[in-house]
Amino acid sequence: MGNSVPLTNGKIQALPPVAEEGRRRKRLPSGRRDSFPSAVGSRFVILSSSSAGNCALLETDEARILVDAGLSGRKTVGLLGELGLRPEDLDAVFLTHEHQDHAAGLRGLSRYPHLRFFANRDTARALQAKLPRRVPWQIFDTETAFLYKDLEIRPCSVPHDAHDPVAFFFAWGQDDLFSPRRSLAWVNDLGHVPQRLAERLGAVDTLVVEANHDEDLLENDPRRPWSLKQRIRSRHGHLSNDAALEALRSVQRPRWRRLCLGHLSRDCNDPSRVEDLFAPFCASLSPAPALSVLSPTEQPAVLLEHSHALH
Ligand SMILES: [Zn+2]
Ligand SMILES: [Zn+2]
Repeated sequence: MGNSVPLTNGKIQALPPVAEEGRRRKRLPSGRRDSFPSAVGSRFVILSSSSAGNCALLETDEARILVDAGLSGRKTVGLLGELGLRPEDLDAVFLTHEHQDHAAGLRGLSRYPHLRFFANRDTARALQAKLPRRVPWQIFDTETAFLYKDLEIRPCSVPHDAHDPVAFFFAWGQDDLFSPRRSLAWVNDLGHVPQRLAERLGAVDTLVVEANHDEDLLENDPRRPWSLKQRIRSRHGHLSNDAALEALRSVQRPRWRRLCLGHLSRDCNDPSRVEDLFAPFCASLSPAPALSVLSPTEQPAVLLEHSHALH
């Protein structure tokens, strides 16, 4: 697997490089452990994060999954190819909700009979109704944690205008030197951050959270009708930059090593504004988490992020 993923964004390039050894699914042989003390088989790559499409790859020692599938099947397969992967190498796809920017690839990916598709009942029902073939759904209950291979998954309800949208919290690893405990939250598409969700946000190493729009840019956007602006701004719409920051400020004793702002609107946000807003916040924390802003406009095809060691 060559390290051939295009790194198009300076912010992305600043992230830790992907170590070949860390991509192996088995643990490193003991003689090589010292060389790669933290590179034990986990990788998290955001293939795309914006209002146009959301999809990430999470690999652990035992699992290789997509989190959301908001790119076309063809584009998803192409990007996987750049990572040296085929769809056959994936185990499963986890879906947060039925909106196209999270599920557009389902039709194409459902052609691979070995793939399992995880969603709650209402989301699966909404998606299945639009598909030409029956999908092997793995139905989970929102708010009930479950295991899949070496992953612990907790789907948490989020306020958004879909049937039963969730955020995903993932954890894996044994909490020893060679398989350190890791945790990650994927929190997109929510109109506000309820208290019970805010309480959980601080407990992960890596937090991906939505900073969808700048309130002034949305207000002054000439292309969006008022009704759509109201939908986006509603309690079941999307988080503005200010709302995301306010929610993160409310988190008590966060243990983030990386804070990643994503799902930016192409028209109604500006990555530099997001960076300016969140950089002082990150710097105010001790220890300060690394900040990543996923720019939707700096992607030639899709925006990519590599985060191998997740620390
Ligand atoms: Zn949505
Ligand atoms: Zn979305």
